[in-house]
Amino acid sequence: MILVVDNHPFQYEMEKICTIFFSQEKIKTVRESDETGERVFTSLRENVITVKAFVNSKSAVKSCRYDLDDAEMQMARMLVEVLSGLTGKKPKWGVLTGIRPTKLMRSEIEKSGREKAIEFFEKNYLVSHDKAILCADVAENEQKIISRVDSHSCCLYISIPFCPTRCKYCSFVSHSVERTNKLVDPYVEALCREIELSGRIVRSTDLRLDAVYFGGGTPSTLSAQNLRKVLSCVRDNFDLDDNVEYTVEAGRPDTVDREKLEALKEFGVGRISVNAQTLNDEILAKIGRNHTSDDFYKAIALAKEFGFDAINTDLIAGLEDESYESFCENIERTIELSPENVTVHTLCLKRSSTLVTDSRKVRRDEKTVDMMVEYANKRLLESGYEPYYMYRQSKSLGNLENVGWCKKGKECAYNILMMEEVSTVIACGAGAVTKLYDRKTGKIERIFNFKYPYEYIDRFEETVERKQKISEFFGK
Ligand code: SF4
Repeated sequence: MILVVDNHPFQYEMEKICTIFFSQEKIKTVRESDETGERVFTSLRENVITVKAFVNSKSAVKSCRYDLDDAEMQMARMLVEVLSGLTGKKPKWGVLTGIRPTKLMRSEIEKSGREKAIEFFEKNYLVSHDKAILCADVAENEQKIISRVDSHSCCLYISIPFCPTRCKYCSFVSHSVERTNKLVDPYVEALCREIELSGRIVRSTDLRLDAVYFGGGTPSTLSAQNLRKVLSCVRDNFDLDDNVEYTVEAGRPDTVDREKLEALKEFGVGRISVNAQTLNDEILAKIGRNHTSDDFYKAIALAKEFGFDAINTDLIAGLEDESYESFCENIERTIELSPENVTVHTLCLKRSSTLVTDSRKVRRDEKTVDMMVEYANKRLLESGYEPYYMYRQSKSLGNLENVGWCKKGKECAYNILMMEEVSTVIACGAGAVTKLYDRKTGKIERIFNFKYPYEYIDRFEETVERKQKISEFFGK
């Protein structure tokens, strides 16, 4: 697919919109083209915006007078309208391509109230009525948590980038522990040094710890002994009073055992995640998860014995070969288990995942994925869950969203604070990104750690140096 960008600065947004309609194709952007074939032409000349497209042997054109304050949106809306007309595809998030639609919604609600904000989303961004309502619900639920924190709030993120095996759809920096086993002990050593350093830095500032989150990877891939090492290092270096929310992902059921759960409980962890992704054994085997639905049920039953404040479970809509009926069954079985949180992701076709690097082309029926997401939203609402956080990823099927659902009062504050970027996040470990929240501007500055465990271990002194920026930032 060729995208012509003629005399305007909105290339990035127009490319993103083309990707929604032609998700399986490469978009080639050019300044001018006399090529024939499928192409989209976008132009801004003599105060007129024009969008033309030649797709599926049909063509359509729209133009309007340029409005200085709204030009990008004008062009984006016309492009969505033209491509919708030619392809029959109506993206439910309209022109919105960003990760955090709820940020926009919160600011609209603050400006003009819920109803007007919903209307604005529908008219200005061409968002469907249902998605605008979902977004408003999430934004209002998030606001309850956000209003409890001030600009001194900080979260601690600990990255454990190891998993028992690599899932086919995974795009994270996560290593199969079988292949990288010898890195684990030196990694834990380096990680504990970084946690100590971070504790010292945080104590020298006026930051207040609100949440701790272990993610990755799968933190529970660590042995109980290594898990204890990291947990005790956090306890010794941070002020973990009763108000601090403490979450550890134990995402892979095949990593959950009594000894590890005892360690989590002993060190005050209140929330864990045990993820099914699907309860269909054939599909679990196909996606490389290395566990069965029975392993998942057993892990959940064991976790429940420990009385954590909240257990989350993740499901994915759109997994390879999963039918609509099978997905609905996953939702029903999960609701029966009654976890405090359920997170429903839409499958994302990231270039770094084996799913995409595999030779054959991935094709999915986006209509079915849409029906799956709608079913999940409806049934979770009916079952007493509230949508409490949301994010979107590029390359997700149908350009759909990921939503965290919770029983009343059981939201994970870390997910909200991190996603909405309203708190400083001090992050430790490979691939971790520290985010410094500027109290005056609300903007975020980032410090990146090395991505891979071997780099993180070998170049640890560089991480130490980079971390000094935290003290400089808060000493400003
Ligand atoms: S469990 Fe999560 S982090 Fe680990 S390989 Fe699977 S998707 Fe990636």
